[in-house]
Amino acid sequence: MISEITGIRRIRMLYLQLLYRCNFECLHCFHGKRLQHADAFTTDEAVNLLTLMRDEYDTEAVTLLGGEPFVYRDLAQVVRYAKRDLGMQVEICTNGYRIERRLTEIAPDLDLLRVSLEGIGTTNDTIRKFGSYRSALSALEIAQQLGVRAGATMTVTSRNIDEVLPLARTLQHYGVEQLKLHCLRPVGNAADHPELLVNDATAYTRLRERLASAELDIEVILDEDLSELGAPDACLPSGGPVEIERIEADPRGALTMSCKAVGKDSHAFWYDKLTDHIAHRPSATDELTLAVPDVVYGRV
Ligand code: SF4
Repeated sequence: MISEITGIRRIRMLYLQLLYRCNFECLHCFHGKRLQHADAFTTDEAVNLLTLMRDEYDTEAVTLLGGEPFVYRDLAQVVRYAKRDLGMQVEICTNGYRIERRLTEIAPDLDLLRVSLEGIGTTNDTIRKFGSYRSALSALEIAQQLGVRAGATMTVTSRNIDEVLPLARTLQHYGVEQLKLHCLRPVGNAADHPELLVNDATAYTRLRERLASAELDIEVILDEDLSELGAPDACLPSGGPVEIERIEADPRGALTMSCKAVGKDSHAFWYDKLTDHIAHRPSATDELTLAVPDVVYGRV
């Protein structure tokens, strides 16, 4: 259905939000009140969507996320199916809280563990959860011992912008290969915390300068909105056989192609779990009608 409407024939990666439920309630979480919602993929539904994406859109990689994917009971089954039956690259994006036992269980089928951190020590813990910094580092330590490649993500806010570089240095010690920096978007819980927004955009320039001169071993990639001038537009393509990098399914089956549309309920397509197909449900505010640009990431 996506091909017929947009001409898109290939979608490289599926971001699959298995559930809304999470053991955290971070100040910046874009899910907001939905963290309390019970919607979730069953194991069969997750398997069906993965298979559909591989068969119809030649999808080669999946990132499992939530909510918190490690509180999803059948995580190991989904990981195993994606890896062993479909041959996909499998990444998990997690808060890394007390995941050691389950990480050990799925390690042989996992290509990358991406842990979210929001700064050093208490800076991280006041945004995320008390004790979460230590726990995330412990998860990275276990990943290193298990030979699982690791990455990290951070949402840059007024509270942690000065800790990006110290965090990058810390992560290097844990063998983390890449730190991905996101721009805070005022949706979900972040809408209730305007104090987290970086109001002086020149701070982004100073951040980039610090990173560029730091001679880090870890790769740092940034959302281009983390800049004084904002990002160049990268609209969803229209017409013709094209390929896109990603599509994200929320726990209800609502699909989003642009990162900037995630959390905004501007879905043009839905995965119908009952009939196992993708439906087009256009609206005046969907991401195709509004031509929502995608997020552009660049290297320092
Ligand atoms: S940001 Fe991630 S860890 Fe934090 S509440 Fe949201 S889903 Fe949970």
